[in-house]
Amino acid sequence: VPPLELEWNGAHVRIPARMVRAGQNVIDASFATLIAPAGTPIIHFHDETDARDYLYTLLVPSDAHALFPSFDQPDLKARLTLDLGVPSGWTAIANGRASPTAADGSTTTIRFSATDPLPTYLFAFAAGPYARFTGGPRSTPLLVRASRAREVEVDSLQNQVASALGSFERYFGIPYPFQQFQYMLSPAFPFGGMEHPGVTMFNEESFIYREPPTLNQRLGRRATIYHEVAHQWFGDYVTMRWFDDLWLKEGFATYMAAKIQDLEHLPNPWMSFYLRNKPAAYDVDATAGTTPIWQQLGNLDQAKSNYVADGRVRRLLLVQRPAQPSLSGHGPWPIRTQVALVRQGAPTTLLPVVLRSDTTIVTSAAGRPAPDFVFANANDYAYALVLPDTASTGWLAQHIGSVNDVFLRAMLWGALWDLVRETRLAPRTFLETAIRELPNEHDEQIAAGIIGRLRRAVESYLSTADRDTILPVAERLLLDGASDQRHPYGIRKSQLDAFIELATTPKAVARLDAWLDSTTAAGLPLRQPSRWSIVTRLVSIAAASADRRLSDEERRDTTAGGKRRAFIAGAARPEPATKRSYFNRYLADASLNEEWVTASLRAFNDPDQSALTLPYLALALDSLPWIQRNRRIFFLGSWLGAFIGGQRDAAALRIIDDYLAAHPTPIDLRQKVLQSRDDLERTVRIRRAHGGT
Ligand SMILES: [Zn+2]
Repeated sequence: VPPLELEWNGAHVRIPARMVRAGQNVIDASFATLIAPAGTPIIHFHDETDARDYLYTLLVPSDAHALFPSFDQPDLKARLTLDLGVPSGWTAIANGRASPTAADGSTTTIRFSATDPLPTYLFAFAAGPYARFTGGPRSTPLLVRASRAREVEVDSLQNQVASALGSFERYFGIPYPFQQFQYMLSPAFPFGGMEHPGVTMFNEESFIYREPPTLNQRLGRRATIYHEVAHQWFGDYVTMRWFDDLWLKEGFATYMAAKIQDLEHLPNPWMSFYLRNKPAAYDVDATAGTTPIWQQLGNLDQAKSNYVADGRVRRLLLVQRPAQPSLSGHGPWPIRTQVALVRQGAPTTLLPVVLRSDTTIVTSAAGRPAPDFVFANANDYAYALVLPDTASTGWLAQHIGSVNDVFLRAMLWGALWDLVRETRLAPRTFLETAIRELPNEHDEQIAAGIIGRLRRAVESYLSTADRDTILPVAERLLLDGASDQRHPYGIRKSQLDAFIELATTPKAVARLDAWLDSTTAAGLPLRQPSRWSIVTRLVSIAAASADRRLSDEERRDTTAGGKRRAFIAGAARPEPATKRSYFNRYLADASLNEEWVTASLRAFNDPDQSALTLPYLALALDSLPWIQRNRRIFFLGSWLGAFIGGQRDAAALRIIDDYLAAHPTPIDLRQKVLQSRDDLERTVRIRRAHGGT
């Protein structure tokens, strides 16, 4: 058959029926794809530190056909072969093993062996002047860009990867099911990780620490490693038939990551599982935009919206401990839970309860001494928003710090926060409890949760009058906490970070400014990331020294990471011209890394600049269809979360509602908008109920 121009509609190639015969058909095709920092299947990263260039692919879930013609559906697994012609001196990895290379002048051709059977979305390669470390208990190769090679904690990563691989092999009874496990730290990576066999990728930014990490950062890194290694079996080896079941691989990978860490006797993995997954999942499921875990998907272009919003599990019905009974059926019933009756100085009573309808009488509690408080989801067995009753809330507001069980205490803080978000507890009351208890909290994960909520309440929920009185108290508390040498590093560092982000009074701002001339802050070593956070804060509040500090810092930190942070700091500038220029670049500048945009969205949408950014809300909504087509899966949620999250009042709600009323928005986009709208609606409701405007 002579070559012909095939009909191509931008997504599908149509092969004329007359050219197809029964039995095997062979189609040869020539094709090309763009390479760019964003919007293409091959991501280009230019390292400004040493002017080197790096490439890697990222096709999940539905971009493989933008790289090569294919039957782009996960149940049609294939053995794929690949030759790469790259500049001599580059390193390249792919799913298959690399054969000896043939050099021809400045170009080297690397041939990779046929892959194991793979769905198209797991096909991957990376090429560039990467540094390679091979070692650890499993002799695993690790690639990282040259300018950051010295900063990688190679031993720690290699040990955790090997430990995860070994534990999963033992647990599943199936040896690692692919030719090789290789992994890399991808620069400007838009996800936390991606499980391509042979080319498993992790986010360089969160895997290399430019300053000593907190416990939460370490736990997050380990959880990501275990999640991606779990995927080698769940998702890679056993694959969903179609993209409507993406949730299966994500849910199981997150669940198995916690389970294996539990089997390895790592501390409190189920508490971390709760803290990392469930509040975020409840936040989505409590909204009008919530979706069933299983959704009908007509075609590939809808697959992106079916990816759970943060790449982790959203609905945990199936993966509950112990397995929840059903995925289908009517309503949430039955819900298996444990009711805790807690009385100070007495052993906690745990009552297993099955909730079968709107009202359940816990008869097994009858006759017992009245508890100080009741909590209806002890040990986090149920998937449910559990709010304490009034008497329990009153007791907890005074005594939550005296609850010794850390897992229970973590959940109780979550429950108090849920009460605030349900407008049943004044943010001021929550803050008074937080301000009283934080100095005594010794668990790093719980302390980080208190600090994050404290910051959110001050920033978004308080009335102006309350804020004026509480801000100086919060600043003082955080500064004292950061300086308190009785606390472990992580608790101090979290408070230092929050102090930098909240500093508003002249005294606090002057302190930030002075720290930039020092090597320490609140007695902690002051490293580059915190310096950039200070500069960003000074820019966002238009401090007198802001411009000078920003240009000084750009001269001081000339790495690619420094360029990124300078870009983020610039987005915080409270000036109309800056906002206009950033917004235009977000949508039109093809040289801008998608990850840089994501990282700057919060600075752009600082809630204290809501009047300045409100005009961009409608524009941000108008751009959603373009974003869905041209940006990767998690970008849309970050975009909506930032532009809507930067607002605090009813005017913004009206803009969203007008948009939804005026546009026949596809249901998947509409649901995403409703999910973010819910958070703003709560903010408006809380401020209205508690004297804010
Ligand atoms: Zn995953």
